[in-house]
Parts: sequence; C-alpha cells; structure tokens
Amino acid sequence: MSAIRFKALEDSLTHKPVKVNHSEDRAITFYACNVFDDSKMAQYLPEGVYKKVKKCIAEGINIDRELADHVANGMKQWAMELGVTHYTHWFQPLTEASAEKHDSFFTLANGTPVESFEGKVLAQQEPDASSFPSGGIRNTFEARGYTAWDPTSPAFVIGSTLCIPTVFISYTGEALDYKTPLLRSLNALDKTATAVCKYFNPETKRVNGTLGWEQEYFLIDEALFAARPDLISCGRTLMGHNSAKNQQLDDHYFGSIPERVMEYMQDLEVECHKLGIPVRTRHNEVAPGQFECAPIFEEINLAVDHNVLLMDLMMKTARRHNFRVLLHEKPFASVNGSGKHNNWSMATDTGINLLSPAKDENGNLRFLTFLVNIIKAVYENADLLKASIMTAGNEHRLGANEAPPCIISIFLGAQLAKTLAILKEETEKGKILTPSVKKSVKLNIEQIPEILLDNTDRNRTSPFAFTGNRFEFRAVGSAANCASSMIALNSAVSGQLEKFKQELDAALAQGGSLEDNVLAILGRYTKQSYSILFEGNNYSDEWKNEAEQRGLNISGSCPEVLKAYTSEKTISLFESLKVLTKRELEARQDIYAENYHKKIQIESRVMVNLAMNHVVPTAIRYQNLLIENYRGTKGLGFDELVENRLDTIKIISQHILNIKTNCKDMNTARKNADTITDNLQRALAYSQNVKPYFDKIRHAIDQLELIVDDEMWPLPKYREMLFCH
Ligand code: ADP
Ligand code: MG
Repeated sequence: MSAIRFKALEDSLTHKPVKVNHSEDRAITFYACNVFDDSKMAQYLPEGVYKKVKKCIAEGINIDRELADHVANGMKQWAMELGVTHYTHWFQPLTEASAEKHDSFFTLANGTPVESFEGKVLAQQEPDASSFPSGGIRNTFEARGYTAWDPTSPAFVIGSTLCIPTVFISYTGEALDYKTPLLRSLNALDKTATAVCKYFNPETKRVNGTLGWEQEYFLIDEALFAARPDLISCGRTLMGHNSAKNQQLDDHYFGSIPERVMEYMQDLEVECHKLGIPVRTRHNEVAPGQFECAPIFEEINLAVDHNVLLMDLMMKTARRHNFRVLLHEKPFASVNGSGKHNNWSMATDTGINLLSPAKDENGNLRFLTFLVNIIKAVYENADLLKASIMTAGNEHRLGANEAPPCIISIFLGAQLAKTLAILKEETEKGKILTPSVKKSVKLNIEQIPEILLDNTDRNRTSPFAFTGNRFEFRAVGSAANCASSMIALNSAVSGQLEKFKQELDAALAQGGSLEDNVLAILGRYTKQSYSILFEGNNYSDEWKNEAEQRGLNISGSCPEVLKAYTSEKTISLFESLKVLTKRELEARQDIYAENYHKKIQIESRVMVNLAMNHVVPTAIRYQNLLIENYRGTKGLGFDELVENRLDTIKIISQHILNIKTNCKDMNTARKNADTITDNLQRALAYSQNVKPYFDKIRHAIDQLELIVDDEMWPLPKYREMLFCH
C-alpha cells in the first residue's frame, strides 16, 4: 500500500475550515490602514511639505533630498506607531516574484542606539541583488543595481516592515525590473493620448491608463500538495489520469463556495483591504478547485503593484488554511487553466473613460478614434503583445480547454463590428462619406442602448475583447506580472496615437473639417487592420486555418514568439517612445528565454525522477503480484480464465519499456540542448527536442495508473486533488 499517498489523504481529511474571527470587520473601518496614503500624508507631513509632494506626484516632478527628508520623517513616525522596526525597498525584478531586503531603523550614532530613517535611504538604495537575472546588463565587475523610490505608489506596512515601492535599475541606468519600463510606457501613453484627446476635449491635461485584473487560481490541500513532487518543484502536475468527473457538469462554476475556501477568501480580503487593495469580487471558477478574485480597477502602476502584492498575500494566507495556491497557468491537464484577465482602458483627468461610447457626436468621434487606433496598434504589434504574455506555463494554457488560442485577434461585439464594417466598405469605395454613413459610424445616439446590450454578450473565447467600456486582454497568464502585457499594450497604443496625430495634423493643414479628416484616417486604418477582427469562436479549428489564411501569426511556441522582442519593429517602437532600449530588449528576451529552458529543464528532471523512481517500481511490484497470481492459479482447472492475465502483464511491460526508453532519450535531448550557450537557441532546442517527450512519458504513466492497484499508486490522483475542498 502506498504509505505516502494514503497518509496525505488521511491528513487532508483532518483539515477543517480554519475560522478567522472577522465577524466585526467591515472593510470601510480599516481599509488602507497599513498604507501611507493621501490621508496619512496629510496627517503626518507638515502642510507645506504635503502640498509640495502632491504637486510633484501629480506633475511627475522629482522629489528633492530636502523634501524626501521630510517625507521620510513623517513616514517613520506613522510606521513606528504601527510597531514597525524595519524598512525595505520593495521591487519587481524580472522573475515571477517581488523582492525585498530589510534594514532596521536601528543604528548606532557614536555608539548610542537610535532609530533613524532619512530621505537618503527612502529615495535610493543599493541592494546587493546581483543574482537577479539581468540578461547580461550587469556583469560581475559592475554588479551594482539601484532601487529608487516610486512616490506614485504609496508605501505600506506588512508585519513589522515598512515597504517602499521602488524601481530597480543598473549602475548604467538600464531597467532591471518591470516597474521602470511600465512607468515609462505610462508616460508615453499620457503624452500621446492627451495630445489626441485635445482635438475633442481641449481642456484635457492628463490621461491615465487604468487596469482591473481578474486573478484566477487553484487551491489544493497542503497534505496532497506535499505528496506531489511535481507540484512542489514545477507548480503543475506532470502526470495523472484525468478524473472521470471533472468540470463537465459545470457544477463548480459560480457554485456555492466551500466553507474552508470561504474562510481563506475572507482572510485574504481582510489582508488585501488593510493594504488598500480594493478586491471586491470572489467566486468559484470553471475547473474544480479553481477560484477567482477581482478588485475595482485602478491606475495601472498601482494596480500592478497591488496584483504583485496580492499574489504574495494569497500564498501566505493559504498556508494558514492548510492550502497551497497554484498560480501556474495549467496545473492540471484536461480541465481549465488559469488566466489573469487584464481589463484595460484610459481615463482623462477630467473623468472621461476614453473607451466609453458617449452620449454626443463629439464624444463618439473621440471614442471611435481611440477604438480604431487601438485596433490598429494591436494589429501592427500582435507579435509583441503575444510575446508579452508568453511563458513556459502559459504555453500549456493557450489553445487548450477554454483558453484563448495563441492567435491575437480582437472581438468587438455585433454593433461595433457592424459599424467598422460600414466604415471599411465606404472607405473602399473611395468616396467621401455621406452624412448618413457618418452618422451611423459615429454611433447615432439611438443605437447606444443596443451597444450596451451587446456588451453583456461578450465573446469569452477571444484573447482581446471589447467589453463595453474597456478591452479585456484575456491571454495573460495567471502567474504573470501584469506589467509585462501593460508595457506592450501601452507602448503599442502610444506609438499608434503618435502616428495618428502626425497624419491628422498633416491632413488638417490641407483643409477640411476635423470630422472628415478623422473619419478618412480611421477608415484607412480599419481597412488596413481588418484581418485582426474576429467575432467567431476562437476555440475552433476552423479559426486556426482562417487566421493562417488571413496572414495572422499562429505560432504557439514560446521561444518562437519571444523573437518579437528584438524585431526591428519592436526596437524602433520602444526606442522612439523611450520605454526600452535595444540593449534592454535584448536582455529581456534573453532572460525570458533562459527562464523558459530552465523551467523545462526542471520539469524534465522531475518527470524522469517520478517516472523511474516512483512509477516504474510501483508498476513492477504490481506486475509481480499478477505473475505470482497467474502462476498460483495455473493448474487449478480454469487455465483458460487466467490466460488474459498474461496480456495485462505484457501491457505493463510495454508501458515500462516506453517510459524507460523515452526517459533515456529525453535525458539525451536535454544534455544536448544544455551544450548550447545562447539562451534563445537553447530555449528553441528545449521546445523542439525535449518538450515532445513529456506527452509520451505521461501517456504511458497515465495508462499504468489505470491498471495498477489503487492501493499501490504512490501519487495523489486527480480526483483526490481536485475535490479536496
Ligand atoms: P467579468 O465579467 O469579466 O468576470 P469582473 O467584474 O470580474 O468582470 O471584472 C471586471 C474588471 O474590470 C474589474 O476589475 C473592474 O473594476 C474592471 N474595469 C471596469 N471598468 C474598467 C475600466 N474603465 N478600466 C479598467 N478596468 C475596468
Ligand atoms: Mg473577465
């Protein structure tokens, strides 16, 4: 009998809901209590200082040392009242986690212990963080990396530590993190979108990108998790026959939340609210064991920080409830994977959502302008957008079980699709648009209710869907830092808006009305980018064929897709907007490629270990039982009834042979790949030569799982892991 698996099952049954007493906790009474937000600044900073800091943040002006000293002082006082003893610069290196290195307020001044926190250390630090991936930007003799305060995202307290959101850059000024290029891309978006917005609303001063993420995840009992070496090391199951019952009855989706999970969710929400993360929605997702949480949307920089923080809080909170959180995009084969839908839009300082259809013609011309420019931006930069969401994990999810395929396309909804079809057709005719056509593309006011209705009927199969007043980028992976896709999207749209403005200014200089000139350009754009629009079922095989015929990129191989980071188009876009330099892009591509081949390397080692040391010995033991039984029953007078037992014995041998041969060949392929020094080339070798063995080995193992005595099987089964809540 398998001691480990049955012990794990037994332990999991002892895990009851962990009651956390928050019956009296109402979010409004403690929301953001651990955040040095606007109200704390007003309270803890002298009035003049507070006003200056606010102005600097609003206008993007650098905070000088003297001002920083004042802020540090107020921050320290506030933090110490919360019992804080340490501070850390909190940053987002190019890994899947945040980073922190704590220092104490405690220091010695001439031998006397004092507590100190000055503007100097608030503003900048030099952490000894030379082991983070830098893609060759930091070589060892020049390994200095700096963190610098991002005053646009408020400091917060976790436990006894004051956390200061920072960017992470090299000695030579290159970005080593997600936040630096994100802030640069938001600047570019502000500049270009404000300029375009001014044609319609001259009073506009600023445009902010907005993001509301939806975070999907799996919860698994910690005892069962501990009995699965693949979950521990890879975050996903490398084997396991699918459960007879999984998600086919749709009885989990939006179902009643299990009590144990509910306690976890409430605990998590309290933690989030204390840190000012405005989570608001919680529910069961489609797959058994899968859940989702979502906040109220925020300005992108803050939303990204909050999501990174959330992922950390999820892991920590889950431990208190004897759960483990799986953020991997595809932890279980044959049920849904997890994504992180990034709801994205732009808002002006005057309160206009630029992706909201308006109630007046000027507003709708503005709406159409932004809509069509985004379509053009996505069309032109589809490869980059795909690269921004591609990882070893997401590669498993995209195109499988109700996840968008690896083809970037845009869903608009019937009404808008019709509007753009008219615009395209009329443009193709080459004539000036008639007043009635103009009226209809500007979304006659009467049609607005119809549009809104349409928006509720959104296409859940689309990787990039318009959902009424925002786009929902659904191809993003659940473990990802949202910044990656936001940097790509903000930049693509900024680059496009800049081109649009140039073209429009040139056209206006030739005469004609704003409306006629705008519609002429939008008509041309629509015609050019029409092939990216798709209203149908993205899951279907027909779409794959059609997309290929339309000339869209259908590659689903992560290393292939990563090539887009260093294409001429990407480099010129990012350099012109000053978001990332060629060197920084090359470094990023290198880091992502390295991450890819390392992940597959780990998985392949775990696979071989599990196959050879757990599965094969178990299969042999069971086979021996069969052999013994076969021999023992022989001659008892019903030989013909036990003859078929030989078939089973033979089939087991066949599977064992398959496993052994494929493991050996996979090892060879892996060792060959490891001789390649270039990270992208090595990633390609892993993708082409190592990855194919996983399915072969898994198939043989999963077949054995069906044959071998249940009591002997060493690894928790799918039906046990997915229904342990
Ligand atoms: P769904 O129906 O797609 O599951 P949810 O309510 O779970 O929707 O999530 C929608 C997300 O979109 C929320 O985080 C919400 O705040 C966000 N959102 C709404 N409007 C905007 C906007 N203008 N910009 C960015 N995000 C938005
Ligand atoms: Mg959604």
